[in-house]
Amino acid sequence: MIRIKNSVVLIFVFFTFYSCDSTTKKSEKPLIVTTTGMIADAVKNVVDTLFTVESLMGPGVDPHLYKTKQSDTKKMMEAEVIFHNGVHLEGKMSEALENLSKSKTVIAVASGFDQSRLISNSAFAGSHDPHIWFDVQLWIKVVQYIKHEMQKKYPQHKDVFEKNAVVYVKKLEVFDEWIRLEIEKIPLEKRVMITAHDAFSYFGRAYNIQVRGLQGISTASEYGLNDRIQLVNFICEQKIAAVFVESSVSPKSIQAIMEDCNQKGHPLKLGGELFSDAMGAANTSEGTYIGMIEHNVKTIVAGLK
Ligand SMILES: [Zn+2]
Repeated sequence: MIRIKNSVVLIFVFFTFYSCDSTTKKSEKPLIVTTTGMIADAVKNVVDTLFTVESLMGPGVDPHLYKTKQSDTKKMMEAEVIFHNGVHLEGKMSEALENLSKSKTVIAVASGFDQSRLISNSAFAGSHDPHIWFDVQLWIKVVQYIKHEMQKKYPQHKDVFEKNAVVYVKKLEVFDEWIRLEIEKIPLEKRVMITAHDAFSYFGRAYNIQVRGLQGISTASEYGLNDRIQLVNFICEQKIAAVFVESSVSPKSIQAIMEDCNQKGHPLKLGGELFSDAMGAANTSEGTYIGMIEHNVKTIVAGLK
């Protein structure tokens, strides 16, 4: 009886110790919070397992309309570093980010490259297009900037960050070239991409494809009947074969364009769904930066070729 008791005590002590140990280990890692999944992916590729990296916006979430939740504020308060996109992508979070920057390291990744490479947008007075992740060469600059800022803050991990960034940047260079070759498979006259909102200007500039969105660069802006008529006329005149919906934007506006074109006698098909401002589900290929763009490129090429 005594022996059984002892074993029970021993097992209890073991589990108590083990669970305490694993909890401690988990919380030992400093936390980095990012706004979008794309930024979290870039940070993870630099820091690997040295930090816990969490993004506030999951799959299908629209960053233009996203408002800071109470749980986000708590998470950001716990974080040692906060990375966001900047260029007004997270328009409704700017006050919260501004406040946090008084006591925390808050970094806008879009500050990490020569600002002349930002695309200015006349429809958005005095501002620039925030969708910088769609030019892989610009994203390489972002990865290098994240590495640089992390090395400054954590010099003890300088070499690890350097090594990780070199490996990832090489992968991105190869990927960039792959996109270029894939897009070239679409004949030049058919190389026009129509989406609900103007998220793909950087993609268009980088990979030589014309892009048109119905809604402007932010989903917060409204589109009028005139925008719709103009886009429908353009599609019919150019005999564009397909249009695309986006995972983080309602498909209603694109469906309306398709109906208008079909009524005008131009059969317009749905080319598929693209990831614009959010990545796909976690633990899928589309839940990574490379996987999300790879999906887009394959969908665009299959829809327009
Ligand atoms: Zn957008």
